[in-house]
Amino acid sequence: MAAFDFARLIATAADTIAAHAEELTALDQAIGDGDHGLNMKRGFEAVRAEAGAFAAKPLPDALKAVGTKLVMTVGGASGPLFGTLFMALGKELPAAPDRDGLTAALGKAIEAVAARGKSQPGQKTMLDVLQPVYEALAQGKTGTEIANVADKAADATVPMKALRGRASFLGDRSIGHMDAGARSTALLVRAVAEAVEDHQ
Ligand code: ADP
Ligand code: MG
Repeated sequence: MAAFDFARLIATAADTIAAHAEELTALDQAIGDGDHGLNMKRGFEAVRAEAGAFAAKPLPDALKAVGTKLVMTVGGASGPLFGTLFMALGKELPAAPDRDGLTAALGKAIEAVAARGKSQPGQKTMLDVLQPVYEALAQGKTGTEIANVADKAADATVPMKALRGRASFLGDRSIGHMDAGARSTALLVRAVAEAVEDHQ
């Protein structure tokens, strides 16, 4: 994987979050406090505002800068978790990663998110999308296939009972709704996977 247009990738990610902000809010209203759409939009617009400066950095530093900005601007439970994801990716990725490097880095970044959230897959959170995405990447799936795996994984949170985050306060009443963070993660995965695939 050669260097690609990181500023364009940020714009695509921010566009998809903005286009789906109301949907994310509605999901979070059902089993949370209804701020996830606004939280993510605020964070990704802040990242977009500095896309040029971030894109001028080597990829690991650019990812760390994105993560730091997300921690500062998203807020909620998800801000530190998405921030950790990007900061850990930046820490683990080589400057010009191949698929194996990307897979290994994502595995480490997922571990960092799980440690930060004291969570694991199966608890109706963003990890329920990240883990299958990691497995799809390790299996050599294409960008579009990986994006489809992410969408299916977000759908698969609907029948789950939330065991972490605000939705867990609802117990069984969290069943029957998609996790907002799983959905936003799937949106970001599609933006990244398609940008990387287009580039190849
Ligand atoms: P808050 O819950 O503080 O209002 P957000 O609404 O922005 O924050 O984010 C909620 C999302 O964060 C959830 O849908 C879930 O995916 C994710 N999340 C919350 N707590 C955890 C956790 N401990 N581990 C992993 N993900 C979590
Ligand atoms: Mg919320």
